[in-house]
Amino acid sequence: MRILIVEDEKKLCELIARALKAERFAVDEATDGNQGGLLADSYEYDLIILDLMLPGMGGAEILRRIRLKNQQVPILILTAQDATDEKVRNFEAGADDYLTKPFAFAELVIRVKALLRRGPVTRASVLRVGDLEVDRLSQHVKRAGKKIELTPKEYALLEYLAANPGRVFSRTMIIEHVWDQSFEGLTNIVDVYVRHLRSKVDDPFPTKLIRTVRGVGYGLGESVDS
Ligand code: CA
Repeated sequence: MRILIVEDEKKLCELIARALKAERFAVDEATDGNQGGLLADSYEYDLIILDLMLPGMGGAEILRRIRLKNQQVPILILTAQDATDEKVRNFEAGADDYLTKPFAFAELVIRVKALLRRGPVTRASVLRVGDLEVDRLSQHVKRAGKKIELTPKEYALLEYLAANPGRVFSRTMIIEHVWDQSFEGLTNIVDVYVRHLRSKVDDPFPTKLIRTVRGVGYGLGESVDS
């Protein structure tokens, strides 16, 4: 899951990013409105955390622009303003949740997870593909009832594929969702992680779930297009 934070208080932005990275999210940070607007336009985020008072383009304007193009991405508004009519305006403009500063990071993380759970892809917290179960709350993975231990990146990759069973993702799409902006390695990082994942999720079991589509990328479970 990839999250964008638009927040001009650099220290706060960093702390939010740290709290979310600790929860295994890929995080991009923008510290002014123009940069935030540009990133929101350029990448397909799974969630956006948006401060209202920003230098450059304001948060309300960024919100409006995102909603013109993308109705689905969950948006959490962050602000010092506690005025009710301001909240109402932003909800009407398409915000999904609202957090007033100062807030506890634990609360932010809970809200982020809640928004992602009801996100556009699937509303279930447990993803099931064949006999594989991926619990997005506890981040536990089981196959045929047996628990599988994964590293954070292996988990993130599996969760991304499991959220869209049957769909094939290119290496670039996978990198954009599972890694973050600071990632500048080669796309074969995906092949490496898929290999790790296969050794844990597929090799011990008779039925193979991870599919390689030559020249396209990877998917999980039955193909929906063949
Ligand atoms: Ca601000």
